[in-house]
Amino acid sequence: MAKLIALFGGRKFRFWYQTLPLKQKKMMLSWQNILMMLTILAGLGMFYYISHLQETPITKRIRFIAFTDEQFMKIANFEAKLQENMKENLFLPATHPSYIRVIQIMECLVHKNWALSNMKTQKWKVAILDSFDINAYVLASGHVFVNVGLLNFVQNDDQLAFVLAHEIAHSLLGHAAEKVSFAQMIDYFVIIVMAAIWAFMPFDGIALVTQVFYEKVVQILLDSPYSRKLEREADIVGLELAAKACFDVREGSNFWKLMQFHEKLKGTETPEWLSTHPSNVKRQELIEHFIPKAISIREQYHCNPLSENDPRDFCLFSFLHILPFHLFFFTLPFLIFAPFAVSPFPSILYFSLSFFALLIFSSLIIWYILFIFPF
Ligand SMILES: [Zn+2]
Repeated sequence: MAKLIALFGGRKFRFWYQTLPLKQKKMMLSWQNILMMLTILAGLGMFYYISHLQETPITKRIRFIAFTDEQFMKIANFEAKLQENMKENLFLPATHPSYIRVIQIMECLVHKNWALSNMKTQKWKVAILDSFDINAYVLASGHVFVNVGLLNFVQNDDQLAFVLAHEIAHSLLGHAAEKVSFAQMIDYFVIIVMAAIWAFMPFDGIALVTQVFYEKVVQILLDSPYSRKLEREADIVGLELAAKACFDVREGSNFWKLMQFHEKLKGTETPEWLSTHPSNVKRQELIEHFIPKAISIREQYHCNPLSENDPRDFCLFSFLHILPFHLFFFTLPFLIFAPFAVSPFPSILYFSLSFFALLIFSSLIIWYILFIFPF
């Protein structure tokens, strides 16, 4: 809405400005006037920004939050209700083994980290969604949603605990409020720049192209890097939560290796600079860096010692468990649909594609029989 007002306001200003006599035009846009306007805007912006700075719980990082806790809780509860209504038909019942598995790990993580600020005030709730996407997410209210796809994907409870701890960390650190606040702050900038673009660009077409380009630049240079920063923070804090709850923290590194392997096979890796999440390689390196600290936290919390056999040494073999998934979800449909997809172009293209698909399919089967069957 504010963007539309900026657009039409800026455009109206341009038309009005074009009708003014030259002398008045020059007077209005003198450098003194522009400088004064920019100083007032910058001053107001700085005052608003500084008066809304807060300390992040746990990591003590200073950040900008545009809302009070009560205001944001209202938004969070509304969002939780909306999500519950939208996804209700996908929920697995509370008696389902997957639900019981997740709730037990959640209880362990929450209970062992009970002393942390915000842990008691959140309304922790779990829902398992009957969806094959490998995903889990948390709402600001403390509602954690876990897809069946993720439960099938992880190799053990330690990896699942690492993912759940990451989601709990997002919630404890108030990342949702921070993200919305950051987006709002960026929006103010965008609105001011948009009004200027529509006011000073000579034609609507140029103004539109400039605006689209500007919004994309803002997303790549500001929004996405900020989101990646929050993901890294949730990974580090999540690893600590998992360590305090005595899970095998080395599995956090394996989880990201597994994701790398999965996305390579699927061919869906997005370059990091375009993504709201750090790349799987970077996340694995980050976790690897913090594992020694997490192991010492485990010791401080008197957890049972970790097994001598480091799971990170066996990850190559353990990756093989996701191959059947790829075999059936990616290669087989390709084999079946390739002839239809290229039917207007028979002969060479058809045969080479089918041959290629067959080759992949049979080599995966051989790989599967050779490596997975014996283990
Ligand atoms: Zn996350």
